[in-house]
Amino acid sequence: MRKTAPINIKSKVTAIRWVLFFSFIIMMVKFAAWYFSKSGAILSDALESLINIATSFFALYSLFYASKLRDADHPYGHGKIEYLAVGFEGALIFGTGMYIIINAVQHFLLLMNCRTSIWVSF
Ligand SMILES: [Zn+2]
Repeated sequence: MRKTAPINIKSKVTAIRWVLFFSFIIMMVKFAAWYFSKSGAILSDALESLINIATSFFALYSLFYASKLRDADHPYGHGKIEYLAVGFEGALIFGTGMYIIINAVQHFLLLMNCRTSIWVSF
């Protein structure tokens, strides 16, 4: 098994801070676009950006926690929290995806009902 290099926490933290900065700007632009367009597609994209920011904060916390030295409670160190962060991000993305799918199907069915009722009225 190859021995890995020690984790450079400082560069990872810097990277995540930049990700947070640009994610926040992108999210604000998407919410502004949704505000003016009222588009469901843009809203779902903006919500995905919100999830991106939440998971980035958790990733940032996990990096700080993972950098702690081993102690009596955690004799193998604290690095495994990064796997928890990955699982958390996956769960949030899955949940957001399910919400977007349900919302899209509801809007589609609502649109179908409107068209049907208009067609029936003729
Ligand atoms: Zn500990």
